[in-house]
Amino acid sequence: MSTFSAPRGTYDLIPPDSADFLAVREAMAAPLRRAGYGYIETPGFEQVELFSRGVGESTDIVTKEMYTLTTKGGDRLALRPEGTASVLRAALEANLHRGALPVKLWYSGSYYRYERPQAGRYRHFSQVGAEVLGAEDPALDAELIILAADAYASLGLTGVRLLLNSLGDRECRPGYRTALQDFLRGLDLDEDTRRRIEVNPLRVLDDKREAVQRQLTGAPLMRDHLCEACKEYHEQVRELLTGAGITFEDDPKLVRGLDYYTRTTFEFVHDGLGSQSAVGGGGRYDGLSEMIGGPALPAVGWALGVDRTVLALRAEKIAPDLPRGTEVFAVPLGEDARRALFALVTELRRAGVAADFAYGGKGMKNGMKSADRSGARFALVAGERDLAEGTVQLKDLASGEQSPVGLGALVGTLLAALRPEPS
Ligand code: ATP
Ligand code: MG
Repeated sequence: MSTFSAPRGTYDLIPPDSADFLAVREAMAAPLRRAGYGYIETPGFEQVELFSRGVGESTDIVTKEMYTLTTKGGDRLALRPEGTASVLRAALEANLHRGALPVKLWYSGSYYRYERPQAGRYRHFSQVGAEVLGAEDPALDAELIILAADAYASLGLTGVRLLLNSLGDRECRPGYRTALQDFLRGLDLDEDTRRRIEVNPLRVLDDKREAVQRQLTGAPLMRDHLCEACKEYHEQVRELLTGAGITFEDDPKLVRGLDYYTRTTFEFVHDGLGSQSAVGGGGRYDGLSEMIGGPALPAVGWALGVDRTVLALRAEKIAPDLPRGTEVFAVPLGEDARRALFALVTELRRAGVAADFAYGGKGMKNGMKSADRSGARFALVAGERDLAEGTVQLKDLASGEQSPVGLGALVGTLLAALRPEPS
């Protein structure tokens, strides 16, 4: 223990548990790479305004959860609370929208929100995200949803459910908004929520409190107000998903916390995480580009939470396929052996074998203890006499069997033992 600990609402990724995080990130990224998405990375902070305009002045993210700071130069910056606004900002700045469309991008990184910390809700967390810019095609909405569902499935998760809704567009949403406001104004709600009715009434549907939810029975629903074009679009998304074998639940009250969503909106939930259930979410955000000063640019995307997906794996008792741990552990006896085995370890690593070494001049007994602890299958042991004979001792740590192997044959012998050809 030092004088310091990880800040409230944060935690460190420590081996061996950290391997699960890498496995989840990789599982989320692999389907995207196969589908032609290019990797994008943006700064960890942006101008505050990008988020207040791009995420929405009335959202919890902007009003309560943003980490903001003023630099010595007087710039007002915020640690990024989400990825979409930054990715769109970067794409517009690089003029990607003037090239071939659609532009497909994916990202992976850390995000920061000043939240009340609890299991599955942190102040620093990780997302993998994907965005498609410059095309309005239900096949893209469907593609993204399929890629996310495939990512969860490739991890072996069976408890992830997909909730789906349409939020309408400029055509039909205003009329629905007014109808919803009329309904909400008649309810018994607190001061804050009443204010929300005027600014962002759809978000009231998202209120988690039982007393509010009870009153929402009978609220007008977007699905009964969709214009023909939105209805047709949504129907196509649903058909494409069904065709791909993706099951989903229509959730007419699913609205998500951000202002810029239009049409398709979806959330992936898992019921094994306690009070939090959203493991990922996204949707179409055709209005965002103009909101941050760009041209009209239809877009659709999602962000999947890495932390909560790891929790889902643990809830389902799944250990993801991990990269190989140490396979060979070298224990030298004496200075000459130390040099020879260090060279062999380097050679083994270059040949693709995960090899480690008894550093710190441990001696035989402690060296073998480290070998056992490393989980390696084989130990390499060598002293003066072995070296004089041009051999090292190869010990199978499971059976205890030990035999001398010539230095020149060692890499081949180990590769044959560790990676037998399928017969
Ligand atoms: P919630 O309703 O749980 O607050 P959200 O709507 O704020 O979620 P999004 O902004 O859609 O979440 O982010 C996408 C995903 O990122 C979420 O589904 C979740 O898995 C993850 N996520 C969001 N906030 C946090 C957090 N504070 N800690 C850990 N994961 C988070
Ligand atoms: Mg949130």
